[in-house]
Amino acid sequence: VTTFRGRQVALFGLGGSGLATARALVAGGANVTAWDDNPDSVAKATAEGIATADLRTIDWPAQAAFILSPGVPLTHPKPHWSVDLARAAGVEIIGDVELFVRERRAHAPDCPFIAITGTNGKSTTTALIAHILRSSGRDTQLGGNIGTAILTLDPPKAERYFVVECSSYQIDLAPTLDPTAGILLNLTPDHLDRHGTMQHYADVKERLVAGSRTAVIGVDDSYCALIADRVERAGTTVRRISKRSVVADGFYAEGSRIIEAHGGTSSLLADLDGIQTLKGSHNAQNAAAAIAACLAIGVSREDIRAGLRSFPGLKHRMQPVGQLRHGGGQVVFVNDSKATNADAAAPALSSYDRIYWIAGGLPKEGGIASLAPLFSRIVKAYLIGEAAPAFAATLGEAVPYEISGTLERAVAHAAADAAADATPSAVMLSPACASFDQFKNFEVRGDAFVGHVAALDGVTMLIE
Ligand code: ADP
Repeated sequence: VTTFRGRQVALFGLGGSGLATARALVAGGANVTAWDDNPDSVAKATAEGIATADLRTIDWPAQAAFILSPGVPLTHPKPHWSVDLARAAGVEIIGDVELFVRERRAHAPDCPFIAITGTNGKSTTTALIAHILRSSGRDTQLGGNIGTAILTLDPPKAERYFVVECSSYQIDLAPTLDPTAGILLNLTPDHLDRHGTMQHYADVKERLVAGSRTAVIGVDDSYCALIADRVERAGTTVRRISKRSVVADGFYAEGSRIIEAHGGTSSLLADLDGIQTLKGSHNAQNAAAAIAACLAIGVSREDIRAGLRSFPGLKHRMQPVGQLRHGGGQVVFVNDSKATNADAAAPALSSYDRIYWIAGGLPKEGGIASLAPLFSRIVKAYLIGEAAPAFAATLGEAVPYEISGTLERAVAHAAADAAADATPSAVMLSPACASFDQFKNFEVRGDAFVGHVAALDGVTMLIE
């Protein structure tokens, strides 16, 4: 990034995205002084030739900007010490997303740029949009909060599409964020540790859509509904999204059907029925948002429908990974390892009617009592890890269960039971627990599940 060519900038935070940002600034000719509270990160940057110094010792008024990693506290519970120093010197504080938008404005203002935020569904929607664009042959860059640091992507240019997931932390550090299409999916209390109050959290998220050329906003919660009205009054084009009720100008779900409403008429835009990777009303919200954003940047309805149909889903998030056909019907194996608490497991349990449910691990506060309304969908539960006794107590008489102990045994037993079931069903890992008692992380747990499924007799895998 060339925005700070020949100027001094201070940078704090040398984790993955911070280091990538430091490299990009240096490559663009800025005089960077970088620091981190972790000496190992500092040593790594120094070894690469990035200038490092304790930011308590630098000439702050000489800095053109202070670049902060999104993980470092800006306000809550209290500002990081480096933030205090920057503020005291009146130096502006920005992050990598802001560097990207300035670069884009300076060199490729017509480069299509979709930014996505919300409490839930960000990664799914981001991946779905990128898939639609890629499968229609467009040069597409996918990054931000979803994994690849934004400044390691190819640089912006006119015919290159950017799909960027933004956490509220990143938005907080991007004062001039101006996507071609900005998506705010939903807002529920979350991350309040960093933002203090729900109102502040909502205000931060609002900035992403307020700065967009077209704002795509899910209006099923009261915060977002108010934001949509406010952003529209300020003159921005708004497309409203709903997974449950008719909207006047936008896209809403009627079951699996996504309806486009415009100027008093409505028409069927796409039907998600039969698309395994987009099951459930939460995915109807994600798909409607993706559709609205793609239309806003000129993607054809045919390209959108084709992309929806071929979406492979995201790993570890309600992903159908294999299937088993047998006399009575069909068993689908679903990896939802990312569901590390009861709230996160709810959408997957809501999306299938007959479930052989593998759950457990390291229990979190609250357990699975909140899932009771979904227990009728569970044919049997296979409990693993430390949470097994507590989960068994909650399931009680309502749901048959066994204490399987290990994931391997749970998969084998669940598959055998499901194969003997005359009705189609799902064997699903949606653990409602952290993984650390038995696995390094949820990804390793999900991969282990996939491995055990692949080893079963007669299974056809749906992923590579
Ligand atoms: P994020 O990136 O915002 O964490 P993901 O797309 O990774 O969201 O989805 C994580 C989980 O959240 C999914 O497995 C699903 O259980 C749930 N989820 C996905 N989309 C939505 C949505 N639109 N509303 C509510 N929950 C959702």
